[in-house]
Amino acid sequence: MAIVGAGVSGSYLGHMLRRRGHEIEIFESSTEDKHWAVCAWAASKNMLNRFSNQAGLNFENYILHVGKTLRMDLPNHVREYLDLKGLVTYNKQQWEHDLLGDMKVTYNRKCTPGNFSSDRYDYVIDCTGMHRTMLPRAPEDFLIPAYEYLLENVHGMDEFYVVGYMRAKGYFWYFPLDNNRGYMGAGDIDKKYEGVESFLSNHPEARIVKKIGRPIRLAPPRRMRPFHSGNIVGVGESIGCVFPMLGEGIIPSLICCDIFLEVLDGSDSGKFDFEKYTKIVLKKFAYYDDVYRIVRLKMKNKLNMVKHMRLLLSMYRNMKREESRFGFEVNLDKMTRLVKAL
Ligand SMILES: Cc1cc2nc3c(=O)[nH]c(=O)nc-3n(C[C@H](O)[C@H](O)[C@H](O)COP(=O)(O)OP(=O)(O)OC[C@H]3O[C@@H](n4cnc5c(N)ncnc54)[C@H](O)[C@@H]3O)c2cc1C
Repeated sequence: MAIVGAGVSGSYLGHMLRRRGHEIEIFESSTEDKHWAVCAWAASKNMLNRFSNQAGLNFENYILHVGKTLRMDLPNHVREYLDLKGLVTYNKQQWEHDLLGDMKVTYNRKCTPGNFSSDRYDYVIDCTGMHRTMLPRAPEDFLIPAYEYLLENVHGMDEFYVVGYMRAKGYFWYFPLDNNRGYMGAGDIDKKYEGVESFLSNHPEARIVKKIGRPIRLAPPRRMRPFHSGNIVGVGESIGCVFPMLGEGIIPSLICCDIFLEVLDGSDSGKFDFEKYTKIVLKKFAYYDDVYRIVRLKMKNKLNMVKHMRLLLSMYRNMKREESRFGFEVNLDKMTRLVKAL
């Protein structure tokens, strides 16, 4: 099998497939020295423990910062604090690097359906994230522009911090790493990235180590079909496995990898059942479509707390059920205040 893209999905899936005895080749568009895990490296420890165990890694070795609270500054001077229940930042770059191990990775190879011989492989897995290069375009796709700085020498910022933009058009973040380092950045539909300049002027001591970024897909799986084309199949952000309210894609992408493995393992014929895979992914991420609708309605200033109560309750109930997967408390009062404030 070939995997296109050596990000979180490609490295984890490649590793897990090889452990099962499959012959795997990975193709990555960046050069090896420039390959960087573009992301703010925040995710739930509860889930990353599980994926790491499955892959034979000890997640404790990768944790950079264990969060206690998340401060949220919302429009009109509303401030909320969330208790964190496992949200950490971790060394995602190292995690992916260790998963790749000694696997055959061809760097500096930007694959397209035109220049890649898919028929040389049983299956080609599109793990290209927001690029979705190997699959047909999805008509309902939706991406939000984002960029961030890796900073060092930042003082007095020991907790997770976000600033929510009016009408859910995006948010600013600062996520602490280790040794006074942190990721500071923003996703913003209007590309104004409010908060970035003021953060840098309030922290003149901070040194910029890297400026990185790319858009984040907010369109959920339901809007990202088809998931396959010929022998090519998408996994991770390429098919919309990102939580739309937060642009959080690490855990959803890894869940998607596990679904891929479950479907492959369950096949008696050795053939991958595309329809079964599509069905399970759509079911698993069904409520992401409700969350996406909330975000888009907010952006258009059309969200009505009464009229759209079913969507709001669906988001709350599903997030509450998966609280440990998110790594922060899910509280109805706070969620209502947050949605109203934005
Ligand atoms: C600025 C920013 C901050 C984020 N912060 C967080 C966060 O803190 N927590 C969180 O959960 N999520 C975060 N996300 C989202 C998360 O990073 C992604 O959803 C997740 O990494 C998706 O994993 P993936 O493997 O599907 O794709 P990616 O991790 O994007 O990997 C795709 C890989 O494919 C390669 N590639 C692309 N096109 C080609 C091609 N044609 N040929 C070969 N290789 C190709 C890319 O170079 C890349 O290595 C953030 C995203 C951004 C942009």
